[in-house]
Amino acid sequence: MSPWPTWPLVLRTSPAHAEGGARRFEVAVQRFIGDDTGHVRAIEIAEVRVTRDAEGRREITPVGESLQIPCDLALLAIGFEGVEHMPLLDGLHLNLTRRGTLSCGSDWQTDAPGVFVCGDAHRGASLVVWAIAEGRSAAHAVDAYLMGESDLPSPVRPGTLPLAVI
Ligand SMILES: Cc1cc2nc3c(=O)[nH]c(=O)nc-3n(C[C@H](O)[C@H](O)[C@H](O)COP(=O)(O)OP(=O)(O)OC[C@H]3O[C@@H](n4cnc5c(N)ncnc54)[C@H](O)[C@@H]3O)c2cc1C
Repeated sequence: MSPWPTWPLVLRTSPAHAEGGARRFEVAVQRFIGDDTGHVRAIEIAEVRVTRDAEGRREITPVGESLQIPCDLALLAIGFEGVEHMPLLDGLHLNLTRRGTLSCGSDWQTDAPGVFVCGDAHRGASLVVWAIAEGRSAAHAVDAYLMGESDLPSPVRPGTLPLAVI
């Protein structure tokens, strides 16, 4: 049982699963294997163990045999990978965190004076409600930076966590 409002850990079978195929657990993709012409021909997976480091980040370590699964088309459905590395960041001398995001101080300001960050670029892959709340709070911070004070709402702080952290 998980306390409300966390999800109970249950094995679900969606219609896509019901269509067929074998489900493998505790494995992770190690690499894609190509042929001489550069086309993918297999995916190598291996049994892994997932642990957490002192800061709670997941560490995924291969522990078992690897296995090659024939493949001629791989679709990467990994969503938000982090902030895209671009000349803009270099020009502002901004470095990405290990999670691919931009860090900021309590006033939403990055290491570059007068440059603020909010939303997915700050929080990582998240939800529209967080983007709106952080955007409004960053607007408050920008207003205060420019005007010395602000009456704009500031609903969240940079370190605000969701209600449930799993
Ligand atoms: C497939 C998918 C499904 C999702 N479904 C949901 C959902 O159902 N519910 C939910 O709440 N959230 C969902 N999300 C998450 C949600 O979309 C994001 O959390 C939210 O859009 C983040 O808002 P943002 O303003 O921080 O960033 P974004 O919406 O990513 O906006 C950043 C903007 O900056 C622009 N940009 C980037 N670089 C530059 C540059 N150099 N110059 C100028 N512009 C630039 C980009 O083009 C983009 O328009 C989903 C996300 C994905 C990818």
